[in-house]
Amino acid sequence: MYDVMSPKAEEFISHEEISDSLAYAREHKDDRKLIDQILAKARERKGLSHREAAVLLDCELEDKNQEIYALAEQIKKDFYGNRIVMFAPLYLSNYCVNGCEYCPYHLKNKHIARKKLTQEEIVKEVTALQDMGHKRLALEAGEDPVNNPIEYILESIKTIYGIKHKNGAIRRVNVNIAATTVENYRKLKEAGIGTYILFQETYHKESYQKLHPTGPKHDYAYHTEAMDRAMDGGIDDVGLGVLFGLNNYQYDFIGILMHAEHLEAYKGVGPHTISVPRLRRADDIDPDVFDNGISDEIFAKIVACIRIAVPYTGMIVSTRESQKCREKVLHLGISQISGASRTSVGGYAQPEPEEENSAQFDVSDNRTLDEVVKWLMEMGYVPSFCTACYREGRTGDRFMTLLKSGQIVNCCHPNALMTLKEYLEDYASEETRKVGDQLIEQEMDVITNPKVKEKVKDYLANIHNGQRDFRF
Ligand code: SF4
Ligand code: SF4
Repeated sequence: MYDVMSPKAEEFISHEEISDSLAYAREHKDDRKLIDQILAKARERKGLSHREAAVLLDCELEDKNQEIYALAEQIKKDFYGNRIVMFAPLYLSNYCVNGCEYCPYHLKNKHIARKKLTQEEIVKEVTALQDMGHKRLALEAGEDPVNNPIEYILESIKTIYGIKHKNGAIRRVNVNIAATTVENYRKLKEAGIGTYILFQETYHKESYQKLHPTGPKHDYAYHTEAMDRAMDGGIDDVGLGVLFGLNNYQYDFIGILMHAEHLEAYKGVGPHTISVPRLRRADDIDPDVFDNGISDEIFAKIVACIRIAVPYTGMIVSTRESQKCREKVLHLGISQISGASRTSVGGYAQPEPEEENSAQFDVSDNRTLDEVVKWLMEMGYVPSFCTACYREGRTGDRFMTLLKSGQIVNCCHPNALMTLKEYLEDYASEETRKVGDQLIEQEMDVITNPKVKEKVKDYLANIHNGQRDFRF
């Protein structure tokens, strides 16, 4: 039975409720009156229920679809402006005891090089990431209690926060590791992580169990209830995601929104982010079975509908997607992107030799961070390296309250400009710096509060003179 407040996975992600919502959406996909009502509700910017959002996702009326895209774009502008937060993944280890059928790190894959970074190697990798200009990392590791125990992850986090190289610093470490215990989540919290990220892959229990035939990840309930345990362990910010292409996309779209509703109702805080990865080709993965199943058009529609349904949740797109595809979805609601990513274990300090392939998937966007930053700015976006909220203690409900009040904009924009200025001073090419300095000047006009504007001007001058780490 469906119960948003239940602690049980099968009740807060009820198969019956998803099936009924799928049928409802199909039945109303060209119901103009209902779609207008839903769009009117969405314009209030307070979000939509999973069932209402499912109707928009299935909508086949061309003019209404254009309204959906326009509204997603407007909501994105209202809440996130033209800022795009930058991050990079850091793969610590690809040892894994699970049998995920779509991932080359699965236990039975014998062609892939197995690697685990030592603390010395982490220092080299992170130094290389700092030299590129990154301030925010997402740590990735396979599930392996022997090779990657929680102590290893904690030690790595400590190492990363401790590396200060020139003006560089990693100021926020997000962590994407397997579902674990409340006690381990508490340890991660104490280690100072930002967001805990865990992809559900698919919410369809039967498919989930088939796709994860062996290993601890086979346990659907343990995996699906992980975010509740993370919050019980004191982690305020959690990041959801499904791997689009594994299963019927409408099903997983409804599932992820139900998960967000559950967190909001049961824990009082919705997800901090939603990631929208699509399947990619990878070593030992059958391209006939997993072929990146959803089209660019459907992908864009999913992004737009998530933006409308959960306006307060950040949305992440990775270098799995090509430059072209990223261009298409950025304005529809994406607030964070990765840049210059390596999906191998190591590879930032020195490119991995071809015969040693340890990558999780092929990257579609291979540009350098400097190129990505310049590209964003030339499209009118402000690349942001901001990590202020987490460091000011604005997490969980404190963050959400501020965001919902619209006040966050007074922090985000100045912080984006100041962290971009740091990037331009320390890491950018001459050409990128030129484009960036012009953009900053232009974007000063967006700050309406004269006191804040004055302060930002001072801070920018101080950054130019060598000082770092100003924030609102
Ligand atoms: Fe392991 Fe994660 Fe890959 Fe599954 S998806 S095989 S858990 S690394
Ligand atoms: Fe994110 Fe907070 Fe920085 Fe805004 S001020 S970009 S919400 S960390």
